[in-house]
Amino acid sequence: MNRKEFLRLSSMGLASLPLSPFTNHVAAKPLIISTWDSGMPVNAAGWKVLSAGGSALDAVEAGARYIEDTVDCCVGLDGYPDRDGIVTLDACIMDDLANCGAVAGLEKIRHPISVARKVMEKTPHVLLVGQGAQQFALENGFTLEDGKLSPSAEKAYKQWLIKSEYKPVINIERKDKNGPFAPAFFDNGQPNHDTMGILAIDQYLRLAGAVTTSGMAFKVHGRVGDSAIAGAGLFVDREAGAATSSGVGEEVIRICGTHLVVEFMRMGLSPQDACKKAVERIVSRDREKAKVIQVGFLALGRDGSYGAYAIQKGFVFSVKSDTEERIIASPHLL
Ligand code: ASP
Repeated sequence: MNRKEFLRLSSMGLASLPLSPFTNHVAAKPLIISTWDSGMPVNAAGWKVLSAGGSALDAVEAGARYIEDTVDCCVGLDGYPDRDGIVTLDACIMDDLANCGAVAGLEKIRHPISVARKVMEKTPHVLLVGQGAQQFALENGFTLEDGKLSPSAEKAYKQWLIKSEYKPVINIERKDKNGPFAPAFFDNGQPNHDTMGILAIDQYLRLAGAVTTSGMAFKVHGRVGDSAIAGAGLFVDREAGAATSSGVGEEVIRICGTHLVVEFMRMGLSPQDACKKAVERIVSRDREKAKVIQVGFLALGRDGSYGAYAIQKGFVFSVKSDTEERIIASPHLL
């Protein structure tokens, strides 16, 4: 913590909290939480960083990179394509001082989360899209992949082309029976989620978050979801906490979902209650629509408390700390 940051935190009454070794306080336990059961190995990758004394920012990036590397997964280059058969990736990373970077519609680059981090650290900008994002990635040492669909994405795309109906059916009920970490698909081949959202608090109580996704399967080419947009799919604030989301991104963007969750926490609500309020906001806007879509929010308080809430049954999240490693089912509204 530099002097300027110390003075800023002092003015908020936070400098006495154990934020860094500079304050000479005993560090709190680190913790990492992620959306979905596929968050378990993601948390393990982030935990390696946290347990070695690394930063929350490095931990969430490591977790996101893990899932982006996972073969035949619902996230990253192996994810489902858009309706033109092209995989386009969205990602966002944010620390608790409102530093953030994001990419949207990025093609043929394996680690969008690390490109997002470069946007955050090497440019004065927050979000790069499409060709420009790819050009920036290549200028920064990322390599161009071939853009071929994974076997399961290709199969699902061919099946989808038969009717070419855009009908997001997200995670209303799990149909996979292959163990807790199997990618979850419906019987008709539809993926029931495409997004990994990760939140962490490190030993100095720094918060950070990362989101990475191939977005909604069979979306219109050029569509950007909530995951690339700070305040929609990810928001982190040192005073209030952090939140991320998964589900139909348009509904999250409409209410600035994760910003709303974090602001509810700032008002004193617990992470779970804050997520519930945001879910209620979506449902009250259009109850009929809410009956057939899924949105789940996951939140982390700056004290390490956490919670989630979803529209429908089926949203789960994964937790890892010194004392726990488990998958928790989120409560739901409908
Ligand atoms: N939120 C993602 C999007 O709208 C999709 C998902 O979470 O499954 O792109």
